Amino acid sequence: MPQIGTVIRRTKNFYYVDIGESEPRLCHIRANLFHGNPKKNLVAVGDQVEIDTSDVGKAGWILKMLPRRTMLSRRQGTDSPEQIIASNADKVLVVASLHSPPFRNGLVDRFFVAGSRGGLENVLILSKADLSNEEEIASTKNLYLSLGYNILVTSVPESRGIDSLREILHHHTSVLCGHSGVGKSSLIKALYPHCKIHIGDVSRKSGKGRHITRLTQMYRLPSGGFIVDTPGIREFQPAVEPNELDTHFVEFVPYLGKCRFKSCTHRHEPQCAIKEAYYSKKITDKRYKSYLSIYESL
Ligand code: GDP
Ligand code: ZN
Repeated sequence: MPQIGTVIRRTKNFYYVDIGESEPRLCHIRANLFHGNPKKNLVAVGDQVEIDTSDVGKAGWILKMLPRRTMLSRRQGTDSPEQIIASNADKVLVVASLHSPPFRNGLVDRFFVAGSRGGLENVLILSKADLSNEEEIASTKNLYLSLGYNILVTSVPESRGIDSLREILHHHTSVLCGHSGVGKSSLIKALYPHCKIHIGDVSRKSGKGRHITRLTQMYRLPSGGFIVDTPGIREFQPAVEPNELDTHFVEFVPYLGKCRFKSCTHRHEPQCAIKEAYYSKKITDKRYKSYLSIYESL
């Protein structure tokens, strides 16, 4: 009898499929699953799959992949194929510290573009609030609050925002993103101190100096829901076409279609509604520059 499960981890040769038991089932994938399609990266963490585990004591087989609801994806380089980080997640939690490392909106905006494109809800977690004063916190918070995003301010030593974070995670599947060192593993440890959830850089924490490629991994949360931990990302390129980038900047949307040129990229074209909104301060300097930086890198 085939069973439906969720891929919670994948290595080069195996897929670990959660079917609600204490341990995931180890599975292979049928070579002909995608009808000869050579793309290897097709089944990702979070995908719902139908598996056959009738061979007791042996790895099972993935027979089929179910349609995806959402996907968070990236590109490793301009010409590289789209790489799916996680499928079927509900939210992207972008963790960015206010201090050490200092807050920079560029990486946050890149994750938000990917979340928007993949159909996920974007949430910003401003961490290490104990290292900032309330004025600094408010100025960073207001930038995103005015755009309508869900924002949470946290501090682990002060237990600030921890209960709200628990509520955000509750019964949902969330992808945890952010530069390494911003406090992702500390937040999860504060929430679930007795849980075997290993967030963070394995190679750094094992301290063996060996090169270990860290994998995306999904964990079942004791309070219901799942969390997906992503490799410590320093640079992130959303898988988005340049001409659709503007649609993923929420505050640009009211002005789209109002530029003189239909194919306006909002950089050096005359009579550009986005640039006019920027000059009249309806679009902030930080976000406009962020748009330009992502556009140039695509
Ligand atoms: P990760 O790489 O994102 O998982 O970051 P870690 O959780 O490993 O945290 C990196 C460093 O920041 C560690 O030294 C933590 O003790 C520290 N840290 C984490 N959260 C906080 C916080 O809320 N306040 C302060 N002051 N330090 C924090
Ligand atoms: Zn324009």
